[in-house]
Amino acid sequence: MSKINLLSEDLINKIAAGEVIERPASVVKELMENSLDAGATQINIEIKDSGKELIKVSDNGEGMDEEDTKNSILRHATSKIKNSDDLFAIHTLGFRGEALASIAAVSQLSITTKQKDKIEGFNIAIEGGEIISSGVIGAEQGTIIEVNNLFFNTPARKKFLKTDPIELRHIIDVVTRYTLINPTVSFKLLHEKYLLLNSPAVKDLQTNISTIYGTSLAKELMEINYVDEKITITGYIAKPYQARNDKNQQFIYINNRWVRNEDISEAVYDAYHSLLFVNKHPIFVLNLEIDAQQIDVNVHPNKSEVKIEQKKEVQEAVFKAVKETLEKNNLIPTLDLEFEQQQTFIPTNKNESNHKNTLNKQKTKYNFERSAQTIFSLNEIKEQEERITDQLDEEAYYTPEEEVYHSEQEQDNELSGNVKLPALKILGQIHKTFFVAETEGGIVFIDQHVVQERVLYERFMQQYLNNNIAVQHLLQGEIIELSAVEKAALLENQEKLQELGFNLEHFGENTFILKTIPTIFGRTQPKNLLFDVLTSLVKEKNKLEQIQEEIITRMACRASVKAGDTMTIPEIQKLLEELKQTKLPYTCPHGRSILIKLNVDELEKKFKRK
Ligand code: ADP
Ligand code: MG
Repeated sequence: MSKINLLSEDLINKIAAGEVIERPASVVKELMENSLDAGATQINIEIKDSGKELIKVSDNGEGMDEEDTKNSILRHATSKIKNSDDLFAIHTLGFRGEALASIAAVSQLSITTKQKDKIEGFNIAIEGGEIISSGVIGAEQGTIIEVNNLFFNTPARKKFLKTDPIELRHIIDVVTRYTLINPTVSFKLLHEKYLLLNSPAVKDLQTNISTIYGTSLAKELMEINYVDEKITITGYIAKPYQARNDKNQQFIYINNRWVRNEDISEAVYDAYHSLLFVNKHPIFVLNLEIDAQQIDVNVHPNKSEVKIEQKKEVQEAVFKAVKETLEKNNLIPTLDLEFEQQQTFIPTNKNESNHKNTLNKQKTKYNFERSAQTIFSLNEIKEQEERITDQLDEEAYYTPEEEVYHSEQEQDNELSGNVKLPALKILGQIHKTFFVAETEGGIVFIDQHVVQERVLYERFMQQYLNNNIAVQHLLQGEIIELSAVEKAALLENQEKLQELGFNLEHFGENTFILKTIPTIFGRTQPKNLLFDVLTSLVKEKNKLEQIQEEIITRMACRASVKAGDTMTIPEIQKLLEELKQTKLPYTCPHGRSILIKLNVDELEKKFKRK
C-alpha cells in the first residue's frame, strides 16, 4: 500500500506559517516591515494580552486596492519582487510574500485599507486562511491590520509560547529595533492601556536614541561615519565605560534591516578590545549600507540573517570604523555623585508626561520575570556609584582662552593636554596608589599601576607587531629549573618565546639558562617574568600564539609600579607623559579605568553651592 499523502493546502499553510510566525513578536515584526515598505510615516501598534489576544498595526502608508487586498493573504503573493533578478537586489524589508498568508493561516485576521486617491476603503476578514467577509468601508488613508487570537487553531504552537512578560519583551525588542533605525517615522506601542513606547518623528538617529534610551546615554555617544568604495557605515557607539552587563543595546542593520550577525558584532568587540572590562558589552547602533547585490537576505524565512559576499572586507571596515572613532575621542569617565538610576528595561521617553506612572505599573507586571535582570541593574547601580557617568564636556579642554594649564608649562607638575588627555596639573600621590591632578573643570584621579600597565602593554605590542623586540642581555644568565610539564611547554614554544624576547639555552636535564628578557619589562625579576609566561602556557594547555596577548598583558602587569610604591612628582610627570603617547590612555589592557574625573560642578552641588 502506498504511504505518501499529499497534504491539504490548509496544512501546508500552517506548516509554512510555523517558519515565519513563531510568536506574537514575529507578527509585529512582519506587520511593521509591511508598513515601512508601504512608506508609512506613522505606525501605531496596539497589543492585548502580550499579543495573544490582539495585535493591531495601523499605518498611514500607501494602502492597497481591493484586488491586492484579497491577494495579499495568498502565499507567495508580493508586490515587491517580480523575477529572480529582483531577488538578488532586495530594496524592501519584505519580498517573500509569505507573512500575511502565514498570519492568516493561524489567526482571525482583518485588513482595512484605503489608497490616497480613493474615496472609500476596503475591508476583509479572514479566519484560518479563509475569507469570511469582505466589503467597502469608510477609512483613512493607510492600512490597519488586526490579528486576533493568534494560534487559535494551532494549539501546539500556542502551548510553546513563553510567559506573557517574555512574549511582551520580545515585542518591545522588535518594535525598538525598527523604531531606532527609522527616526523620521513616528511609532507608538500600546499594551492594554499602557503606552510603552512613544517615539515621535525626529530629524536624526541621535535624537531618536535620546528619546528611546534617554539623554544621559545619547549625549555621550560617538558618531560613526565611515565610507569606502564598497560600504558606508553610519551610527553611534557609546564610550567604553558605558558598557553594559548585557547585549540589549547592540543593534546592527544592513541597509536599514535589523540583522543578527556575529561576524559584524565580533569586529566591534575587536575594535573595543582592551577598553572593555571582562563580561562588559559595548553599546552600538550601526547601519551598514552595502550594495544590495552583494548580500543575500533570502537565507531564513524571518529575514534576520543575511549572507554577505565580501564578509572579510565588511568585517574589516566595521573594525576600522569603530576603532578610529574610539581613538579620536576622549573616553575618560566622569564621576557622578548624584547617581541617577538608569532605565534598563523599557525604552524611556521623556516627552511622555504620564510615562513614569506607566512604567511603574508595568514594572510590577514584569518583576518576577525580570529577577535576573534586576540583579544586573543592581550591580550596575553599584558600579556606577563607584565611578562614572556622563557630563564630560570635551570641548572645554580645547577652547583657546582656557589655556591656563598650558601657559605654565615650564613648571614640573604641568602636563600639557592633547585630544585624548586633558591638560593636568599634578597635585600629588594619595595612599601610595592614586595620583591626583587638577584639570579644566574638575579633578582627575589616576590609578598609578594601571597607567604603567597601559604604557608597557602598548610599547611591547608595538615592538612585537614590528618583530622588533628590544632585549636585555642578562650578564650571567639565569639558571632556571623546570618541572617536566613546564619543560614540555617550553620546548614546544621555544621559538615563539624567542620572538617575545626570551632566549634560553638548554643546560642539561630540566635546567635552562635564561640569556635575555624583553627590555621593556626589565624592572621585573627575569625568572618571575619567564615563569609567568610558562604558567600561562601550562595552565591554558595552549599554544603560545593563542594566548600571547594574555601573556603580554600579564607581563605588563608584573612589571608595573604597584599600589604602595611611593612616587615623586617628576616620576609621576614622566609616567603621565608616557601615557599621553599611548593610543588608548583610558584603560588597562583588561579594561579597568586609568583615570576618573570628578567635575567641580558635582562638588558644588554636594556642598550646596549650586
Ligand atoms: P511581502 O512583504 O514579502 O511582500 P506580505 O505577505 O508581508 O509579503 O505582504 C504581501 C503584500 O501585501 C505586500 O507585498 C504588499 O503589497 C501588501 N501589503 C501588506 N501590508 C501592507 C501595508 N501595510 N500597506 C500596503 N500594502 C501592504
Ligand atoms: Mg511583508
